[in-house]
Amino acid sequence: MVTVGVLALQGAFREHLSVLGALGVGTRKVTRPEHLDGLDGIVLPGGESSAMVRLAAPTGLFGRLGERIRDGLPVFGTCAGLILLADRLTDDSLAGFDRLGGLDITVARNAYGRQRESFVAPLTITGMTPDFDGTFIRAPQIVDTGSAEVLARHDGTAVLVRQGDVWGASFHPELGPDTRLHAEFVRRLGHDD
Ligand code: GLN
Repeated sequence: MVTVGVLALQGAFREHLSVLGALGVGTRKVTRPEHLDGLDGIVLPGGESSAMVRLAAPTGLFGRLGERIRDGLPVFGTCAGLILLADRLTDDSLAGFDRLGGLDITVARNAYGRQRESFVAPLTITGMTPDFDGTFIRAPQIVDTGSAEVLARHDGTAVLVRQGDVWGASFHPELGPDTRLHAEFVRRLGHDD
């Protein structure tokens, strides 16, 4: 059985754990570097990226996790998790803290507005029918997709990207009943396609 870690410093990690559990994979909460040992993949939840980088700093978790991602550990970052994976941010609000990188994209934090401007939108995802309802909450916006593959757009802007085994979504796929995106991430673990 594969084991998928979920970064559990802060944010919507419980929801990801329950989706992954429902899909029948082993799960592990990740809060310290030693929790990365033996993982087949990891999910980075939404929440507050500025809190996550601060909470990770004392143990050096993100330095170690960044190395594992560069070595090929499959990762799926959602919302704040996408911010952690972006190679570039438009502002310097997280400067001085370890992030992860792995996606050749530029991200603007909070560009979809405040909490009360949250919305759900049907998204057409490459290779997936019917549409997937994406929940956007204080979402980051992908303003440049670099060399990443775009799998879904909303109003012309990329909202789901993939680069090899690194996936990033600006929305929250764990907040609805639809488990197809997690299932696709899990299906590809250990495959080269
Ligand atoms: N605005 C948050 C941040 O900058 C992300 C919001 C979310 O994950 N729902 O980290």
